[in-house]
Amino acid sequence: MAISSINPATGETLKTFTALTDSEIETKLELSKQAFEKGRKTSLSKRAEWMQAAAALLEQNKAQYAQIMTLEMGKPIQGAIAEVEKCAVVCRYYAENAAKFLADVPTFTDASSSFIRYQPLGAILAVMPWNFPFWQVFRFAAPALMAGNVGLLKHASNVPQCALAIEDIFTQAGFPPGVFQTLLVGADKVSDLINDDRIAAATLTGSEAAGASLAAAAGKQIKKVVLELGGSDPFIVLSSADLETAVTTAVKARMLNNGQSCIAAKRFIVVAEIADGFGQKLVEKFAALKVGDPTQLDTDLGPLATPNILKDLDYQVSQAVKDGAKVLIGGQKLDRPGNYYEATILTDIPPGSPAEKEEFFGPVALLFKVANIDEAIKLANDTPFGLGASAWTNNGEESDRLIDELEAGAVFINSMVKSDVRMPFGGIKKSGYGRELGSQGIHEFMNIKTVWVS
Ligand code: NAP
Repeated sequence: MAISSINPATGETLKTFTALTDSEIETKLELSKQAFEKGRKTSLSKRAEWMQAAAALLEQNKAQYAQIMTLEMGKPIQGAIAEVEKCAVVCRYYAENAAKFLADVPTFTDASSSFIRYQPLGAILAVMPWNFPFWQVFRFAAPALMAGNVGLLKHASNVPQCALAIEDIFTQAGFPPGVFQTLLVGADKVSDLINDDRIAAATLTGSEAAGASLAAAAGKQIKKVVLELGGSDPFIVLSSADLETAVTTAVKARMLNNGQSCIAAKRFIVVAEIADGFGQKLVEKFAALKVGDPTQLDTDLGPLATPNILKDLDYQVSQAVKDGAKVLIGGQKLDRPGNYYEATILTDIPPGSPAEKEEFFGPVALLFKVANIDEAIKLANDTPFGLGASAWTNNGEESDRLIDELEAGAVFINSMVKSDVRMPFGGIKKSGYGRELGSQGIHEFMNIKTVWVS
């Protein structure tokens, strides 16, 4: 894929970039090696000072960074501003907590002294997606750099201006040259990078296919990998739930980021006695969404990030309809420039059809009617994915069962699924492995060294 910024709301090419040559990549790899060797001796307090400066830059320039994101990938501007603010939060969180997370852990054994020491691994390659082009990078970079690792970012080819802006933030914040670098390269270079001895480990957020490909290359080199992949999160509503709050949250949980979020609620699983009422309210709220220019503050639903995503989503919906699904609202591309798709609800999805299991990466809700909680849990788990799950009930026993039995990296009761810097984030099954955020996130790319002094 060419490395270029194309405005998804208009189709206009904003800027194109030439991919790095092999010798330019070599220079950056060498710089990153030197930066790691020098940088691991810098104190945690110095790193924290730089990380706080990065947070301050994000806060000061949030309007400018948000505009870059919206113009490159079409996210409504309100969401883009919130994303920059959250990046500042993750920088401050690790600046303030790294010393606690990385302190030696004394362990009582028969040694005269024994403890665990956390040490950095080296250069970490981060292969990142376009959908949260700042947040995905910062949630990797803040813990990694505080731990003393160095970062090499291979960002999605449609968000090069975001990638360069992020590199610039870390440089301006004071991190020495080479500690965080952007590599403007296509996906075809990822295997070569993984094979390079100067790269110690890798993280990828993106599709299952990309994750499998990177993990295979890293497996051959015995290199540690964290994978944050797709999801088809259930949103279960049981009869004791507060219906109005559940429906209002359902709209937000499905439409966030124009429907292009890994943890978006995608399958709405509702018990029969309230399913028609839920469906009716959802239709009304989808119809009321303001679709349009994502740079306007009151826009709810903007364009999809690329023409290919639009094409894929349109194909999935038309196949589902061919298989017998019923359209409650939407179901078409919008007849206007840009990659716009209608807010859509599909129901009566035939059991066993692809729509039941696939991820719909856009503003399309799948509505399922079930008899009871047993059927709800069974259907929720009947997917290759296991990222998040949201469930709505005011019954304590039901709540306990949902927490225990839903196969997901996160279960949220009476709330939409969201990431919080203080809690681990990640999936199971085909949604990936490893965790970001919290104390678990900073330990992923560390040598957890056992020290025993006899
Ligand atoms: P994608 O095509 O997999 O792209 C993600 C990144 O991987 C890009 O930098 C891309 O580079 C690179 N890439 C693509 N193919 C590759 C390969 N064979 N080897 C190595 N790298 C490769 O993902 P997407 O379609 O843009 O993003 C949407 C997917 O990401 C959805 O499934 C979504 O659920 C998932 N996602 C998951 C999370 C999470 O935290 N679990 C968060 C956000 C998104 P190019 O752009 O150069 O192709």
